[in-house]
Amino acid sequence: MTLSLDSIPQPPSGALTLETPALAVVDLWKAYGNNQALQGTSFVLNQGERLALLGPNGAGKTTLIRSMCGRVRPDRGQVFLLGKSIRDPDVLLQMGVIPQDLAIYADLTAKQNLECFGQLHGLRSRKLKERVAWALKWIGLEDRANELTKGFSGGMKRRVNIACGVLHRPRILLLDEPTVGVDPQSRQRIFDMLDELNEEGTSIVLTTHHLDEAETRSDRIVIVDHGKVVAEGTIDHLIESTIGTQRQVTIQASGLLVAAPPGLEWDSEKGRFVCWVDNVADELPGILERIQKVGGVVLDLEVHQPNLHDVFLHLTGKELRE
Ligand code: ADP
Repeated sequence: MTLSLDSIPQPPSGALTLETPALAVVDLWKAYGNNQALQGTSFVLNQGERLALLGPNGAGKTTLIRSMCGRVRPDRGQVFLLGKSIRDPDVLLQMGVIPQDLAIYADLTAKQNLECFGQLHGLRSRKLKERVAWALKWIGLEDRANELTKGFSGGMKRRVNIACGVLHRPRILLLDEPTVGVDPQSRQRIFDMLDELNEEGTSIVLTTHHLDEAETRSDRIVIVDHGKVVAEGTIDHLIESTIGTQRQVTIQASGLLVAAPPGLEWDSEKGRFVCWVDNVADELPGILERIQKVGGVVLDLEVHQPNLHDVFLHLTGKELRE
């Protein structure tokens, strides 16, 4: 998909409207030597949206995130934040960036870390105090505020790290793998924190290795492979436009010595019969009856609903973790 500059909604006056994308990535190219990391990547993050960026290892996600916040200079293409180029130095103040690697000081307390990052973002005196108090509450660490972060669990460190990137109230937040190395309970907590920010109007882009997070915690998904967007949309749209919505039924049966019963195929890899149905409740009784009629006894049966994992595998030919 190639997004042209003309296709980004821009009011004639240059004023911000609800239609102006929070972030527009337009035809980004970036090579490291002979290695073409980005090859014309384009997509839009709408205001108030939570967007998950998925792709196999090496697809270009980190380069993309770094280009979106001005930390990597693309060879070609542009990034607009609320209608303004990120080359404009004031524009980046509206953005918060949470890198993949923890970037907090182990020998400072949670509060000192927040004060330090708040100052880096230009916060001073009363404003700084207010925002640090807000952040400690937001991350649920008010009672541990004065402890050194080196004694914190992985999840607690991540929460401090995220808070450091949002003290200045960014309107757009980019997170590269915000839940890497944290337990499921902390993951849940981090997503609750992000949802709270989103409800207050922050637009969010995140990369993740957890397909379930992308499915349940984002409004839209962008799949990147070989430095290009290969698909984007809601989970329902992605399923419909790639593998279709039919459920796959796999059946293990004994007593069937000959060919598959009508309407079923033999999958030698699975060692089971398979068929696809639009409506499980309507179609399954007929399938079972056909097996019985030819002398088969059903031993096991599984219905598979197409999901993001199937879409991802279909589009990239790879597992997310490969
Ligand atoms: P992802 O985050 O999806 O794993 P990356 O953006 O890290 O992808 O990498 C995309 C491609 O660019 C990979 O082939 C990677 O090896 C290469 N790459 C990334 N950063 C550098 C760098 N600083 N120098 C050289 N090659 C790099």
